[in-house]
Amino acid sequence: MKFLVIVGDGMADYPMDQLEKRTVLQYADTPGFDRLASEGELGLARTIPDQLPPGSDTANLSVMGYDPLRYYTGRSPFEAASLGGELSPDDVSFRCNLVTLSPEGSYADKSMKDYCAGEISNEEAEILIEEVKKKLGNDEIEFFCGFNYRHLMVWHGAPEDWKLTPPHDISGKKIAEHLPGGSGSAKVRAMMERSFEILADHPVNRKRVEKGLNPANSIWIWGDGKKPLLPPFEEKYGLKGSVISAVDLVKGIGLFAGLKLIQVEGATGNIDTNYSGKAEAAVEALKKGDDFVYLHIEAPDECSHRFETENKIKAIEMIDSLVVRRIRADLEQEGIDHSILLITDHATPLSLGTHTRDPVPFAIYRSSNPINKPARTFDEDCAAKTGLFLGEGYLLMDRFIKQE
Ligand SMILES: [Zn+2]
Repeated sequence: MKFLVIVGDGMADYPMDQLEKRTVLQYADTPGFDRLASEGELGLARTIPDQLPPGSDTANLSVMGYDPLRYYTGRSPFEAASLGGELSPDDVSFRCNLVTLSPEGSYADKSMKDYCAGEISNEEAEILIEEVKKKLGNDEIEFFCGFNYRHLMVWHGAPEDWKLTPPHDISGKKIAEHLPGGSGSAKVRAMMERSFEILADHPVNRKRVEKGLNPANSIWIWGDGKKPLLPPFEEKYGLKGSVISAVDLVKGIGLFAGLKLIQVEGATGNIDTNYSGKAEAAVEALKKGDDFVYLHIEAPDECSHRFETENKIKAIEMIDSLVVRRIRADLEQEGIDHSILLITDHATPLSLGTHTRDPVPFAIYRSSNPINKPARTFDEDCAAKTGLFLGEGYLLMDRFIKQE
């Protein structure tokens, strides 16, 4: 038996007037999803415990079978791992944003003008982070280039008591009261201050200012986290497997769980991602000896954050046709016995543009034991009506794999 988890990030939603009071999952044309729901188990799972933030980090940990209350140590360690930052137990990883500070006065007098530095491009960011690496990096403190304004720093043997502020929480405010606190903060403050000297007048930023764009004139250090100690997936479930995702966070969770990463050309994390390429890679991996594949698609979540209803519907329909239906057809044609868990990690309602902690629908289908509930569809409402509810979402993986 081969096991495949398909995660459509942020698919769950609320009913919307413009969709005739239906949710996106109800409105979209998804015969592949509905077939999984009508031939398998359908229910709701709570992927995010009340005590934790409703993020893709906590939610995907749950879906992968790890209790976030026990294993979640922050978001940055996962992203650092995906970008090549090896974390030892003494290390601390941090988010290192490129931000725009206001020009006036000394460093502490400045305000947080733009936490994402005018959505700086990858090309520009890469040049600036290289410069930061050269001038501020050393054996003890390493910088890793991520995407756009989101980068990472790893401090080997760092102190552990930090008081750091997310830059998006202080938009427009004076930074003085929000500069890093904790026993290692003097060093980090000095680096941030120095980064302004390095970046403010950099040619990349001069060009941005000429074009009327916000310059990425400082780094901002926040989001500290230590290495999460996840027991290997293979040990937990007896299955060898892989992760397919465009998102560093999900790749990092996979790495800490001991899963292989499969890179897919054209996997972007957006609506234009290579759906077919991901489906093909998943089937290939299962054919070539993997017992388990975790296939994650970010697009629906991105569309929700941008309030793009049409695109979210489109993304979900593409996951249905190019991923779910395609994979089933391929596996059936190859005569491979398979179980599929279809789920969304959390809801990202279009009306809010942000994640919520609502329980999410899931379906578990087994080719060896299909059931027959033809009226069922894969959506929030239908999943709630079956009465199957998992309060601890991380136990869903046990149900999926061990109760087979
Ligand atoms: Zn997510």
